[in-house]
Amino acid sequence: MTALSVIVPFYNERESLPELVRRLYEALEDRRLRGLLGEGSGFEVIMVDDGSTDGSSALVREMIAGRPEIRLVSFRRNYGKTAALSAGFRAASGEVVITIDADLQDDPGEFAALVAKLREGYDLVSGWKQERQDPLSKTLPSKLFNLTTRLFSGIPLHDFNCGLKAYRRELAASLDLRGEMHRYIPVLAQWNGYRVAEIPVRHHPRRFGKSKFGTARFFTGLFDFLSVMFITRYLRSPMHFFGMAGLSSFAAGLGISLWVTVDKLMNHRPVSNRPILFLGILLIILGVQFVSTGLLGEMLSSRPSRSAGFAVRETANLGDEVARRLEE
Ligand code: UDP
Ligand code: MG
Repeated sequence: MTALSVIVPFYNERESLPELVRRLYEALEDRRLRGLLGEGSGFEVIMVDDGSTDGSSALVREMIAGRPEIRLVSFRRNYGKTAALSAGFRAASGEVVITIDADLQDDPGEFAALVAKLREGYDLVSGWKQERQDPLSKTLPSKLFNLTTRLFSGIPLHDFNCGLKAYRRELAASLDLRGEMHRYIPVLAQWNGYRVAEIPVRHHPRRFGKSKFGTARFFTGLFDFLSVMFITRYLRSPMHFFGMAGLSSFAAGLGISLWVTVDKLMNHRPVSNRPILFLGILLIILGVQFVSTGLLGEMLSSRPSRSAGFAVRETANLGDEVARRLEE
C-alpha cells in the first residue's frame, strides 16, 4: 500500500534534480516520518516534467533504474505548474500527498512536520516561507498577492503559494485546477469545506537555473482569483449570479421606460429630450444579456466533463491503469 505520494513538478531543472532526489530519499527514510506513516508503508515519487527542453526527463529515467519508487510523467510541451500539479494529483495513489518544488528551495526535511500537522485533523497543510530566500522583486509582489488574497478570501494564511504542501488524498483527488490556479489551492480547499492549516517551513535560495515566474505572470493571478471565486460559488448554478443581475437591470430599465411613457401620455412631456430614456434602454438590453449569459453558463456547466488541460508525451514506471487515467 502506498502511504505517501510526493509530487515534483519541474521545468528545466536538470542541475537540481540529482541532489533533490538524494534529499527526498533521505527525508522519506527518516524515522519520524516512517513512524507517522506506519511501519512498512510504501511511498512513490511522481516527477512531472512540464515540457523541459534541457534533458531533465532523460535524467529522471536514468534515476528510475536504482529507485523503483520514482515515476515519470512527461508533457508534450510546457503547460505551467498548475497543469503539472494536476497531472501529479491524478497519478498519485498515496493516502497522503505532498507537493514540493524541484529547485531545492523547499526542504524535504519538513515532510514529517507537515504530516504531523495533517494528522491533527486537517485536509491541507500549507508551508509558510517565513524567511523567504528570494530577491525583493519576488518577495514584494508576493506580499501584495498574499495580502489581497487574505483580504478577499477571508482565509488567514501568510503564504498561499508555497510549493511545499501536504494533502489528504481525498482533497488532492477532488481538486479541479485550470489556468494558474495552483496559487489559490488553499482558497479552493477551504471554500469547499476542507480544513486548512499552515506551518512555517525552511526556505533556501535558488542555486541552479532561474525562476520561472516573473512579474507578468503574477498579474494573470487576478483573473484566476475571479475564476476561483466564481467556480466555487456559482459553477453549479450560474443562473443564480447572472439571473439576479439580469433581472435587477431589466426591472430598473423597464421602470424608467414606463415612467417616461406614462409621463408622455398623461402630462404630454415629449420623450425626445429626456436623456434618462437611454439609461432605461441600456438597462433593459444589459438585463437580457445577463440572463442569456446565465443560460449559456447553465448549458456549459451541465456538460459532463472537460479536458484535462495537458497532453502527456510519455510516462515511465506508472501502472497501465494510472497512465490511462492521465490520457483521459
Ligand atoms: N515549474 C513548472 N512549470 C512551469 C514553471 C515552473 O513545473 O511552467 C516548476 C519549477 O520547475 C519549480 C516550481 O514549479 O519546480 C516552482 O517554480 P520556480 O522555482 O521558478 O518559482 P519561484 O520559486 O521562483 O516562485
Ligand atoms: Mg523556486
